[in-house]
Amino acid sequence: MHDVVIIGAGPAGLSAAMWCDELGLDTLLLEQQEATGGQLNSIYGSIDNYPGLRAANGREFFERFSERIDAADFDLWTNVEIAKVDLKAKRVELRSGEVLQSIFIIIATGVRRRKLGIPGENEFAGRGIIESPTRDREMFAGQDVCVIGGGDAAAENALLLAEVCPTVTLVHRSRKLKSRREFSEQLQSQHCITVFPESVVTKILGTEHVEAVEILRKDALKPFQMAVRGVAVRIGVEPNTELFEGQIKLDEQGFAFVTSDNETDVANVFAVGDACNPLAPTISSASGDGARAAKVIASRLQQKSS
Ligand SMILES: Cc1cc2nc3c(=O)[nH]c(=O)nc-3n(C[C@H](O)[C@H](O)[C@H](O)COP(=O)(O)OP(=O)(O)OC[C@H]3O[C@@H](n4cnc5c(N)ncnc54)[C@H](O)[C@@H]3O)c2cc1C
Repeated sequence: MHDVVIIGAGPAGLSAAMWCDELGLDTLLLEQQEATGGQLNSIYGSIDNYPGLRAANGREFFERFSERIDAADFDLWTNVEIAKVDLKAKRVELRSGEVLQSIFIIIATGVRRRKLGIPGENEFAGRGIIESPTRDREMFAGQDVCVIGGGDAAAENALLLAEVCPTVTLVHRSRKLKSRREFSEQLQSQHCITVFPESVVTKILGTEHVEAVEILRKDALKPFQMAVRGVAVRIGVEPNTELFEGQIKLDEQGFAFVTSDNETDVANVFAVGDACNPLAPTISSASGDGARAAKVIASRLQQKSS
């Protein structure tokens, strides 16, 4: 029996675990990947907006972030596959057959990139699907590319790719881009970027590698093909909360509803970080959520024992 089981070892889960340890709670942190750090592992640009700590990329940030965490004394299990969670009973069953029991559960499962679900998207992973314009810069230099999406991530990716690619085509569904003004203005001033509004990419085509995309523009009867060597899909994120469906209140996109103490609608079950924060996901808010949940839990345990 643990005081707390935390699911997910990104910034939110790691911060919760560090605080739980500091507050003397018996804590087990479960991570499905081999590496901890969550989305930090996919940040290839600099991080300049975490108070008091700057880093050239997510990996460097994580190393400094985890200096304190390495010194903590909580249990960490990585490569863990959770088969089932009973939030009311605070029971977590692992695919390996092990059953874990705790008094509190903290959900810190974060988000993943949303997929389009079109032909070619999975097939060309690593063969023309652009994971990161910073990391993959050399690979796509001199190639024509397409970015799908109309928000900040899409606009930023298009701008980064425009530094090295002869043409960048930005395809998005809406009439107007949703990206911040600064990005939208920069897009307009870049001659190599063409924006196709009210359009969707219906297929990614190729043989060994991406060779073209099929684009359908609003009001057009037929799609047309455009030759590109790289495609970046940036249509937002979705929360990793399927495990908890039907047990806690989620919004229509799957983000967990929480109180100001980060508690879900099931007593003693907390959600922290991006999994409950669709509007302002950041490393600092995720870390703050983790600290808050740990402190609320510690004070409840203290009240119980006094
Ligand atoms: C390219 C990029 C750039 C960014 N730049 C910045 C920036 O400059 N500044 C900033 O503040 N933020 C930035 N962010 C956002 C920031 O990384 C996130 O807000 C933060 O990582 C959220 O932390 P989290 O712990 O809530 O979730 P995550 O980082 O998503 O971590 C969740 C963890 O839970 C694990 N998990 C999921 N499901 C399960 C399960 N069933 N069982 C066990 N483990 C599970 C995942 O494997 C993952 O390790 C950026 C994000 C990206 C992708």
